[in-house]
Amino acid sequence: MRKDYPVIDLASQQKRIRGDIDRRIQAVLDHGAYIAGPEIAMLESRLADFAGAGHCVACASGTAALDMALQARGIGPGHVVFVPAFSFFATAEAVARVGATPAMVDIDPALFCIDPAALEKAIFAVGSRDPSAYPVPLRALDADMAPAAVVAVDLFGRTADYDRLLPLAERHGLFVLEDAAQSFGSRHGDKKACGLGCGAAATSFYPSKPLGCYGDGGAAFTDDGPTAELLRSLRDHGREAGNAGRHVRIGFNARLDTIQAAVLLAKLEVFEEELEARGRVAAWYAEALAGVDGISAPRPAPGGSGSWAQYCILVEGGRRDALARHLRGRGIGTNVYYRIPLHLEPAFAELGYAPEDMPVSLAVSRTILALPFHPYLERDGVETIADAIRGFMR
Ligand SMILES: *Cc1c(COP(=O)(O)O)cnc(C)c1O
Repeated sequence: MRKDYPVIDLASQQKRIRGDIDRRIQAVLDHGAYIAGPEIAMLESRLADFAGAGHCVACASGTAALDMALQARGIGPGHVVFVPAFSFFATAEAVARVGATPAMVDIDPALFCIDPAALEKAIFAVGSRDPSAYPVPLRALDADMAPAAVVAVDLFGRTADYDRLLPLAERHGLFVLEDAAQSFGSRHGDKKACGLGCGAAATSFYPSKPLGCYGDGGAAFTDDGPTAELLRSLRDHGREAGNAGRHVRIGFNARLDTIQAAVLLAKLEVFEEELEARGRVAAWYAEALAGVDGISAPRPAPGGSGSWAQYCILVEGGRRDALARHLRGRGIGTNVYYRIPLHLEPAFAELGYAPEDMPVSLAVSRTILALPFHPYLERDGVETIADAIRGFMR
């Protein structure tokens, strides 16, 4: 019988830890604290320790974590927030939702993360209202708009170039929010994603992320105590700390369910091992794909080890979609992240960008292809997949 290779395989992991998951869910059913149960605080403390961050505030999704982190820092109307033009929609959506204006910045062609040199030009263009220096959203040219923040995304689990981004942001007084939805567990030098010293970080526990639960979930991280208090208040209708009866600001309902925290606590038990396995699978791919004509395999992040949320190759010669069909015919799943760069999403049409404004993001959106990737993929599977790619590209 032919063996199929889905893009992601959550079943192998579940089989491995099903007993622990069942026990922990049972414990929640027994104590009955479905909201704000003891597992939430336990999870927050484990995650903060893991990442090396001062505080962790668990919440309903990665999107809610981004939204709350921007709101906690007072980002809103009149503010320009720089975002990479190549990311999941939520990165820029959260900026627009709090009323700020997302300004797109092109990505580094090797890392797929925001390009610090392009960011510097974009900051200058917005600050000087000079769109000849870098493409800027039409609205950012209004007299009452000022640069306020940058959302750096650790795309596919490789951390962005914080060694350049953090000093640059500091020089310009910008708040840095790390969108670590795909990178929880990634190392960056002697630090880890969500503990890099950014103003705040947001991660996601969507099931397919490196640390995923069985539904929606997320968390925000910060080293700043008052910001953490604000985040806790915002996720729970703006309640006053220590006084459940008083609402002192407008928040929303963005709490994590206790059952999801229980699932995450079980998954944390095997997470380090899975991260190591992810590194091994990435190394097998790099070896198996080396020298395949027309394919560029991703390089490891400089100075770190990624969580490899996705393993994405670039396919040259306009053959990306044909290769995907070829692989599907052999039972090998693929995905495209992302087919539409953010500056061309219909929801952002009013920003007034043209396709060529972000040339790297545009080129990558046309050539990128995610291969099957998860910690339980075996070496012969990687070789079967690489052989199928080589056979087509020949
Ligand atoms: C998944 C993801 C999000 C949103 O996370 P949700 O938990 O799905 O809301 C935000 N940014 C990036 C880069 C993501 O990959």
